[in-house]
Amino acid sequence: MTRPDPGAGAEQGTGRGQDSRPEREQEPTEGPPAAFYLHPAASLHDTGWNHPEHQGRLRSLASTVGKDMMALFGRVEQSEPPLAPEGALERVHTEAYLATLRDASAEAEASGSLRELDPETRISGASWEAVLGSSGAVCHAIDEILAGHRANAFVAARPPGHHALADRGMGFCLVNHVAVGARHALATGAGIGKVAIVDWDLHHGNGTDAIFTADPDVFYLSLHEWPQFPGTGASTERGIGAGEGTTLNVPLPAGTGYTTYRRVFVEGLERMFDAFSPDLILVSAGYDTLRADPLGSFELEPSHFHELTRLLVERAPHPDRIVAVLEGGYAPRPTGEAVVATLRALAGIPLEDPGGR
Ligand SMILES: [Zn+2]
Repeated sequence: MTRPDPGAGAEQGTGRGQDSRPEREQEPTEGPPAAFYLHPAASLHDTGWNHPEHQGRLRSLASTVGKDMMALFGRVEQSEPPLAPEGALERVHTEAYLATLRDASAEAEASGSLRELDPETRISGASWEAVLGSSGAVCHAIDEILAGHRANAFVAARPPGHHALADRGMGFCLVNHVAVGARHALATGAGIGKVAIVDWDLHHGNGTDAIFTADPDVFYLSLHEWPQFPGTGASTERGIGAGEGTTLNVPLPAGTGYTTYRRVFVEGLERMFDAFSPDLILVSAGYDTLRADPLGSFELEPSHFHELTRLLVERAPHPDRIVAVLEGGYAPRPTGEAVVATLRALAGIPLEDPGGR
């Protein structure tokens, strides 16, 4: 079950790295490739160019990842995902809210102008297909991984999802793709009884937290800037009822740098894995923690996401069942570089290896 990790031996000798052999000579026995998914409609969701979550984010990301994909041919594969299966969004969101969203998108399409749930959460004619395509990509990634066709995946979703509540979008988010994926896996995945969601976006994923706060089968771990939008995510918020103890919120002050972030990230993972053994891990992979980001004040660099991802892979009970899903990240070029770092670590490829070999 353990994936080859060619980078582990050369870096800090933690976890699986200590028993890894020179896997690069073992090409014939390597497992399936990792995957990168981006539904074309996600790029078309339009918020206006004056909005930080604009169409250029995914165009830039796709360009940066596309250049790396050429070098990694065969070890990371890209294919167009299908729209979300029937009923997948309804496992998370109310039918009334989804009808509102679908109608608003149709109205925007007919009128040629944007609609708003609130001044910063906008809906265009392409938004309905964008949410179906992005949630569909997450469900498809999970299906492909559980079928053994892929080992780990990155989904370039748009609009982001982790602020979306069951009955309301907010904070640029319309549909909670990670929540849709978790419920899809629990409902349809053979042998999937527990799912962990690791949220490394700068902001607290209030939507994801609320959706699973009473659910003992979904662990939600979030590191986030505090105080910041949306104002939730205190360390005392640890889940309720049967879900008490399966939420771990770690607020961090403005200006947090990588040394502190890495230490707290590892502590969070170890607390989670001590209490909970997930069959699948989803990552709310936001990149607004980057130093270059205009909305946040953390000081991470794109390359740090290779090690953060590796630290997660090394500790995961199933290190080949991880799906990272794009959330925030509003400095397009550094975000693309950080996605490449994440994707390479998910595929077990060193960051500094230009050919992926
Ligand atoms: Zn964010």
